[in-house]
Amino acid sequence: MGMSAAERQGRSRVAQLIQQAGLIRGTLLLRERRCGKPTCHCATGERHVSLHLQVSRGGKPKQVIVPRGLEAQVREWVTNYQALWENVEVVSDAHWAKIAADKAARKRG
Ligand SMILES: [Zn+2]
Repeated sequence: MGMSAAERQGRSRVAQLIQQAGLIRGTLLLRERRCGKPTCHCATGERHVSLHLQVSRGGKPKQVIVPRGLEAQVREWVTNYQALWENVEVVSDAHWAKIAADKAARKRG
């Protein structure tokens, strides 16, 4: 059974991401909070904003605050992780199509 262009591209992207990219599973959330100091600007005005990475592991949620200096990096890791699985899905779809094509061929005899 031949490989479609979509499958070939999906596979090559998966390989590239696995070999070279930073990968992290999780959802990024922007959280606003007050720090509690009565004299801080957040007491009356603009709150502190921090980026959180949240993940569920074995049904248990886990969360970390992403350090400022790592924000861009972590956003990229999260994007890469999603891209990896989107491309695995492309390869999987190609195999669903192979089953369907086989069935259709059998029907035609
Ligand atoms: Zn504050």
